[in-house]
Amino acid sequence: MRQGSQPRFLLDVMLGSLARWLRLLGYDTLYFNEGEDSVLLSRARARRRLLVTRDRELAGRRDAKGVILLRSPQLCRQWSELVVACNLRPDRNRLMTRCGDCNTRIVPLSREAARRRVPPYVHATRRRFRRCPTCDRVFWRATHVTGIASRLEKFLQAARLSRARAATGRRARRLP
Ligand SMILES: [Zn+2]
Repeated sequence: MRQGSQPRFLLDVMLGSLARWLRLLGYDTLYFNEGEDSVLLSRARARRRLLVTRDRELAGRRDAKGVILLRSPQLCRQWSELVVACNLRPDRNRLMTRCGDCNTRIVPLSREAARRRVPPYVHATRRRFRRCPTCDRVFWRATHVTGIASRLEKFLQAARLSRARAATGRRARRLP
């Protein structure tokens, strides 16, 4: 997939956890925890986003073009379903480029500016800091971020497996 041609998403109320991880994986993802089906559809259309839902009724509407229905209640399976549905190829370079809370692209924060924002031991032991311009959270590579990083690695691995499985399934079905 070309740089910059990643799909953009709008997730509905049942997919809050997936929304957060999609953002951390670098996907531009809006999340609405309220709103009528018709409002969600028109928002997705107006913003040129794929609407992702677990609501069969919503996905079954006649005007529900470009809606992706996820069947599993489990995060890891939802991710696999979305990878296959959209042929996602998550880019390692995009990991942790968006704020998981608000979807804004995070920006570098100078070490000097970070001094006032983080605990002294963090400032003394970390070199690179970033911040979300919208919710003003400061990020640095710490143990909790390493935990996120290892989970993101699992998401990358799951994406490769899911695509491979889907490709094998397609080939198998084509056999006479
Ligand atoms: Zn934010």
